[in-house]
Amino acid sequence: MTNLMNLQGRVAIVTGSGSPKGIGRAIALSLADAGADVAVCDLRVTGGDFDLEGSAKEIRQLGRRSIAVQADVTNKTDVNNLVKRAVDELGTIDILVNNAGTFGWVPFLEDDTDLLNQMLNVNLRSCYLCSQAACKIMVPRKKGNIINLASVSGMRWVPEQFTYGVAKAGVIQLTRWLGRDLAQHNIRVNAIAPGLIETNMGAHRIDKPAEPVGVFKAEDVIKGPISEKIPLGRLGQPSDIANTVLFLASDASSYITGQTIIVDGGVVLS
Ligand code: NAD
Repeated sequence: MTNLMNLQGRVAIVTGSGSPKGIGRAIALSLADAGADVAVCDLRVTGGDFDLEGSAKEIRQLGRRSIAVQADVTNKTDVNNLVKRAVDELGTIDILVNNAGTFGWVPFLEDDTDLLNQMLNVNLRSCYLCSQAACKIMVPRKKGNIINLASVSGMRWVPEQFTYGVAKAGVIQLTRWLGRDLAQHNIRVNAIAPGLIETNMGAHRIDKPAEPVGVFKAEDVIKGPISEKIPLGRLGQPSDIANTVLFLASDASSYITGQTIIVDGGVVLS
């Protein structure tokens, strides 16, 4: 039987994949495990919570090729360089996973930091820039696959997640729009909307993007028994998202485009 999830011979870029506990690294390793060569990228290579070279090393240990590229995905020059390096050193780009993101937590009426601008820039504009750069390779090849990380906060009201939610709603609509527009080039575009996933999520200032201004810990957000808030009774794990990315990146999902898959343990059902 053909293994539709086999990614042998394909090249992927996964943005925001330098944090050892983050969703990005889990995605990069899952794609590599399925056979893909992977370019990993993040704001920094080492220091603090970052170990981008560690991500690349783990991929190589799986027998795949990998490069670690320092890139700010809100910076067009960095994004173009990321794509160029993937093409030059790994051969092409088949799969782009727009995972890099940031989370801000300031109530609307107290926000004097222009948080909306930062959320839109890092969570939404980055998807636009990276997709546009990758499409310069994908369109002439008539082949490509783009997967965006959205959030259930982009679909429903979530306490104190106004700016983040607005940006992620934009990611969902960008996914629909690009899915429709790029279908003619045989490029599929889908998104995943995670619920609460157990990672540390650093928020970054616009002027000092590498400096965390807050840490998001999933378990601190849950008040009361988890089973009352999450129907499946547990927090999501990075692997839950990585498994869904693998499905969307593979031929097992070859007739799906423009969609957002909710991976939240049933939270939006309540
Ligand atoms: P994380 O903070 O561990 O990972 C995000 C990564 O993106 C970090 O390594 C960070 O350095 C990187 N990044 C941020 N700004 C960047 C920039 N300008 N250029 C390059 N890299 C940049 O968070 P995570 O929980 O692993 O989140 C991954 C994705 O999943 C994000 O898009 C996030 O919004 C989304 N998400 C997470 C959750 C959750 O509960 N953890 C829920 C819904 C959606």
